[in-house]
Amino acid sequence: MSYWIDSHAHMTEECYQEEFDVYMQRALDANVKKTLVICLNFEELERAFVLKAQYPFLDIAVGFYPGDVPKFSEEDWKRLEEVAKDERVIAIGEIGLDYYWDKSFVELQKECFIRQIELANKVQKPILIHSRDAAQDTYDILAAYKAEYGALLHCYSGSVEMAKRFEKLGLYFSFAGPLTFKNSKESKEVVKALPLNRLFVETDCPYLTPVPHRGKQNETAYVHYTGEYLAELKELDVETVQQQMIKNYKNLFKVKDM
Ligand SMILES: [Zn+2]
Repeated sequence: MSYWIDSHAHMTEECYQEEFDVYMQRALDANVKKTLVICLNFEELERAFVLKAQYPFLDIAVGFYPGDVPKFSEEDWKRLEEVAKDERVIAIGEIGLDYYWDKSFVELQKECFIRQIELANKVQKPILIHSRDAAQDTYDILAAYKAEYGALLHCYSGSVEMAKRFEKLGLYFSFAGPLTFKNSKESKEVVKALPLNRLFVETDCPYLTPVPHRGKQNETAYVHYTGEYLAELKELDVETVQQQMIKNYKNLFKVKDM
């Protein structure tokens, strides 16, 4: 069986809740049969557990987003350690560094990134990395504190050279809607330069909507546009790309029933 996987979606966002079944049906109609739901806090995680009970093809990740780290208490950290062990949680993320929005707590971001890498290693799960305007620091931390159960760099938008360095650390890469934009020349070069066995596509919905729906609200069904675009860039047929991404997902997340 061949299908698309959305490796990064914020399906607990308010905009989807009222008509959740419609979004799920549209995903299935677009042959998107696995979606990794990213939870940034415990409210989102509780919601994701409820959604997964109804739609088992949803997978779940949880982690403290770099821009949010000042608001979490020691009690929250204890709770994160507990939920990280839950078998429905397949990865820790999105975690990392974001120097784009606010550079006033860079040291705290680094500290929390490292702490969550160590947590992922302890519970034997991979990490999902968010890195924006922070490629070098992200690299330095990953080189010094290895994610022993694998790592996926989500929404990669850096240079080819940096991608090659991350590749040597064993990382996987995921590309979102901007890959389909005319002006994203560098990302297209990165996709061509990396081997297919390190690649994923994602929506990061409700943000980063691919062409032809650019500018409108994104949804997990739309991952097929980015996937088809990636297949064209790699000069491969869609099924080859889907099959390899399913393998990549199994390899990284150790998910069996797919
Ligand atoms: Zn995200």
